Amino acid sequence: MPEPVPEPVPVRGTAPAPRKTPGAAPAGVLAWSRALPAPAGGRAGRGAALAHTSRAGGSWRPPGAGPVPGPYDGLDLALHVGDDEAAVRASRRALAEDLATRGARGVRYLQQVHGADVALVTADAAGDDAPDVPAVDAAVTAAPGVVLAVLVADCVPVLLADPAAGVVGVAHAGRRGAIAGTALRAVEAMRELGAREVSAVLGPSICGRCYEVPAALRAQVAAQDPVMATTTWDGAPALDVAALVLEQLVGAGVRAEQLPGCTAERADLWSYRRDGAASGRFAGLAWVPA
Ligand SMILES: [Zn+2]
Repeated sequence: MPEPVPEPVPVRGTAPAPRKTPGAAPAGVLAWSRALPAPAGGRAGRGAALAHTSRAGGSWRPPGAGPVPGPYDGLDLALHVGDDEAAVRASRRALAEDLATRGARGVRYLQQVHGADVALVTADAAGDDAPDVPAVDAAVTAAPGVVLAVLVADCVPVLLADPAAGVVGVAHAGRRGAIAGTALRAVEAMRELGAREVSAVLGPSICGRCYEVPAALRAQVAAQDPVMATTTWDGAPALDVAALVLEQLVGAGVRAEQLPGCTAERADLWSYRRDGAASGRFAGLAWVPA
């Protein structure tokens, strides 16, 4: 089935933050999205939608396009990385306004801790001023309009959906979260909500050629999860986190695919490994349209 291409939606009501380099008019907030309609004749599901943002979409301009860009220039959605809070709030508003045109009523950001806990998010917690979901790396919901958001800059954003059941989930999988099976636990939680056929999309993350690690760490990981052990093009020890997540999901009966794009190699994606502590975050998103 051909993938629907979303129309660019202009950003409204986002005053440029003082610290941002002025840029060209944003072409849209979402870097990728996919609508998953409920199959005809199925159960009462409302369908589902998956998406992710990128560094572009706000006031970001590519390096070399003018004055030296600031480290947080672009659509940064994270309140915990040292960026200007007003700028992040403006970026979150821009995203919420875009998503409101796609059946969303509010965005719930996870306050991630590299663990394996899963939160059940209900309609009671929706709304534009809903608080972040504390201390979890995965969340599920069957509440229409509630957008679940994981924030990443190299870790794997795992987007989960059963459009027939109207159940979605997200997981944030770095090295530790992947080993802990965080995405699998989200799938289990979705099945408790009635999901039967879960499909997964892995958004952009740092690739197995770029995520260099000490040899001792790779050896330790390889002893338990050999699919994650790899090498850089230069032959240095490295890890491929997404490979483990894919292996886990497929093993659990989930149809899983990985989107193209390595965060460390693409300037329009945030990368902690490339940019260090002064790096923003982009979001992986899943929701049941209201
Ligand atoms: Zn790479």
